[in-house]
Amino acid sequence: MNEFELIARYFARPRLNRSGRALLGVGDDCALLAPTPGMQLAISADMLVEGRHFFADVDPRRLGHKALAVNLSDLAAMGAKPAWCTLSIALPAIDEAWVAAFCDGFFALADEHELELIGGDTTRGPLTIAVQIAGEVPPGAALRRDGGQAGDDVWVSGSLGAAAAAVMHRTGRLVLNDAKLAECLDQLDLPTPRITLGLALRGLATAALDLSDGLVGDLNHICERSRCGAQLDWPAVPVHSALAGLPEPLRQEAALAGGDDYELCFSAPAARRDVLSTLAESLGLPLTRIGRLVTGQGVSVCDAAGQLIPLTHSGFDHFAV
Ligand code: ADP
Ligand code: MG
Repeated sequence: MNEFELIARYFARPRLNRSGRALLGVGDDCALLAPTPGMQLAISADMLVEGRHFFADVDPRRLGHKALAVNLSDLAAMGAKPAWCTLSIALPAIDEAWVAAFCDGFFALADEHELELIGGDTTRGPLTIAVQIAGEVPPGAALRRDGGQAGDDVWVSGSLGAAAAAVMHRTGRLVLNDAKLAECLDQLDLPTPRITLGLALRGLATAALDLSDGLVGDLNHICERSRCGAQLDWPAVPVHSALAGLPEPLRQEAALAGGDDYELCFSAPAARRDVLSTLAESLGLPLTRIGRLVTGQGVSVCDAAGQLIPLTHSGFDHFAV
């Protein structure tokens, strides 16, 4: 099987029959798109590299899900509705069973969000997956990082720390029992992009981002762009239940500095508390108020006694380790 047969068999799919579909998809020099008149395009790219973002023995179906999920998560964090994506993939060899499983995971998630694969690139090389994604958002409605105001509440969706706990288990820093490990690995490999939440936060959140590198480090990006600081209450942080019983410093490290949660963190005026509680119920997704934006700079976290927690792990920086 050569590159072109591989593309034709696995990446060129029957066209989705939906309104915003591409005029021309996989198979030509470029795809042709007709964005919805009046909408803005939100565009993002995320790359996954073996050994850096996933373990070499990862299940390909899970990898297909994750490669797309981390990109959809960026659209969610922007309040954009998914529309199109490209997939560029370097494979050490053509392993059809592997590619088929990868595509199963990738397209199951794409179809869930009516996202259309419109092109990409396929080459031989060390296993690397780069997805570029585009969504639509009405002018002025995007959830940017720079709209936070001192006095706003800080919220987070879902629960935090499970993905980091799975990595800590894999690297021998802690031991989880089989049931908890399975739960944490699902969080690490199969994150749920919070698309519906992102769309619902248009007009409610003043600033938002998705948590990929750890709560404190990521929230600091909102602080920098919004020119403010943040104070978080550790007891309010929704730590994943699989971390119950672990030593407090590990729970703190996993939930405050662990990456790969792909939950949304956002700020909103206190006047929105009731609306956001109702939204959480209607989505069946916990939304937790974990602190507030303040004047000043940087993120600080207080424990139950009101003592500052020393933050030695302020987030994951690919070039720091
Ligand atoms: P070019 O030589 O113009 O780069 P390619 O031979 O790389 O074209 O690709 C042929 C067609 O297949 C193009 O439309 C391209 O977008 C698409 N394509 C290649 N690889 C992928 C992939 N992994 N997923 C989706 N589409 C792909
Ligand atoms: Mg090419």
